[in-house]
Amino acid sequence: MNLDREGVVMVEKSNVLVTGGARGIGAGIVRELIRQGHRVGLCGRSGADSVAGFLAELAQMGGDAAYFPCDVSCAADRERMLDEFSRRFGEPDVLVNNAGVAPDVRADLLEMGEASFDRVIGINLRGPFFLTQQVARRMIARPSDRFRCIINIGSVSADYASINRGEYCLSKAGVAMATKLFSVRLAGEGICVYEVRPGVIHSDMTRGVAAKYDAMIANGLTLQPRWGEPEDVGRAVAMLVSGALGYSTGQVINVDGGLVIERF
Ligand code: NDP
Repeated sequence: MNLDREGVVMVEKSNVLVTGGARGIGAGIVRELIRQGHRVGLCGRSGADSVAGFLAELAQMGGDAAYFPCDVSCAADRERMLDEFSRRFGEPDVLVNNAGVAPDVRADLLEMGEASFDRVIGINLRGPFFLTQQVARRMIARPSDRFRCIINIGSVSADYASINRGEYCLSKAGVAMATKLFSVRLAGEGICVYEVRPGVIHSDMTRGVAAKYDAMIANGLTLQPRWGEPEDVGRAVAMLVSGALGYSTGQVINVDGGLVIERF
């Protein structure tokens, strides 16, 4: 972050890699980063054709964005994506680990199968953990004066137990610890690590359970009586990317309308 002579924050333009950035929360993050003038690479399992419309929208906003097909649970895909990203933009200044999945089936804890456990952990925890490792090594190999950080999109499910999607809760509890671990390891390298922890956000992931959350929000689940939108998360991420919280490594930023505030 820079300050001009009047003390106004001048946001540096960063090279940002956002996993799963073409829809849902990821798209909200990408739109906000493009609005702030950052250069953004996004990825997903979908073919490039399916994101052409979104890329055209970003180009219309005057944005510099590129899409890299990549399954974050696959080591070879991650390596190829980072090579393609650095050829297109240079090395990333910021990694946003946003890609994630819910279990295909919400099964009771006593019925959940190992295949679903492995799938959810592989995409939500193992993939982002090793992507962070790869990005951190590349950052350390090329010291930079620019503000650099890793942002993990966690979930209130790191703390809140849902017994019909235990594998998801475990994956997000793991993401919370990965944030702490990397914040400790990378502080001395000048790299901040944060977790942004959304509550209940409109996206494809929550579409199938929207009626349930409508009722819960109407009954006071959140202090602010509305769903979160992808842009709510996007603005939090953009603030972190700006370096405004550059002395707060390891912190969790809740974006949940007050869901986690304990009440009588
Ligand atoms: P969506 O299902 O709407 O979008 C998921 C995104 O992740 C898509 O862009 C998808 O792209 C990508 N993705 C999924 N699997 C992979 C993979 N293996 N490799 C690369 N990309 C992948 O979900 P949300 O936008 O709601 O979720 C985004 C993040 O926010 C997740 O980490 C989720 O756990 C978290 N979150 C969401 C909450 C909510 O209420 N919605 C609440 C708390 C946390 P593609 O299909 O092209 O692969």
